[in-house]
Amino acid sequence: IVRMAKVNKHFGSLHVLKDIDLQVKPGEVVVVIGASGSGKSTLIRCINGLEEFQEGHIEVDGNELLPDGRSSKALQRIRTEVGMVFQQFNLFPHLSVLDNVTLAPMKVRGWNRADAVKTGERLLDRVGISDQAIKYPSQLSGGQQQRVALARALAMEPRLMLFDEPTSALDPEMIGEVLDAMRELAREGMTMIIVTHEMGFAREVADRVIFIHQGQILEEAPPADLFDNPRHERTQSFLSRVL
Ligand code: ATP
Ligand code: MG
Repeated sequence: IVRMAKVNKHFGSLHVLKDIDLQVKPGEVVVVIGASGSGKSTLIRCINGLEEFQEGHIEVDGNELLPDGRSSKALQRIRTEVGMVFQQFNLFPHLSVLDNVTLAPMKVRGWNRADAVKTGERLLDRVGISDQAIKYPSQLSGGQQQRVALARALAMEPRLMLFDEPTSALDPEMIGEVLDAMRELAREGMTMIIVTHEMGFAREVADRVIFIHQGQILEEAPPADLFDNPRHERTQSFLSRVL
């Protein structure tokens, strides 16, 4: 569903992504790990067109993104087909939880309110916060807000979900509830690309783990192989610092 070929990205003189080749199949769960500044966020932001790149190409569910943003039609389609959850929840503070979830399907997909509400309520139930629907984001805990963000992304019926450190801003006791919701989603067969530092979660849920170092994919393998037998010395030293 995702095919990246020889993708290179520069921020001015900084070469942030170097010849990234990455393919993700439908239903696959791919976890991206690497040190701070290695390019993890930039990599996944390129996949839904939040960042432009200068060389190579990216195909998402048949829509092709070209260098320097030359593919606006594809970009629009990708934005509606790819859901994203960030470290900061980015909820609309002036909208209730339910309205946060129903807004995009009504505006972008043209659903009527009744259908959007029905789906929204089902999704809130699925992430375990159906009792919070009429509250505002500021009245929720971080873990609850992040689950709203997840429900909101799912409301667009995405073909692919991207996660950028979804639990990094959460108090430790709330990390589990967000990971549980993600685990459930993986079990249901959602295609997911996840940047996380939660190595236990990665080991359990990932089909494949990708280690990025200074903008390059140095190593990729199923979690058991990568965590227990890293081939590259850089991977070993990274893992010894985080495990
Ligand atoms: P972290 O684990 O800290 O989130 P990361 O692996 O996600 O790090 P990126 O955010 O992708 O790293 O950043 C990769 C490099 O690109 C870093 O050196 C960063 O300083 C640089 N960078 C990121 N965004 C920009 C930007 N908008 N303009 C210039 N440089 C940027
Ligand atoms: Mg990042």
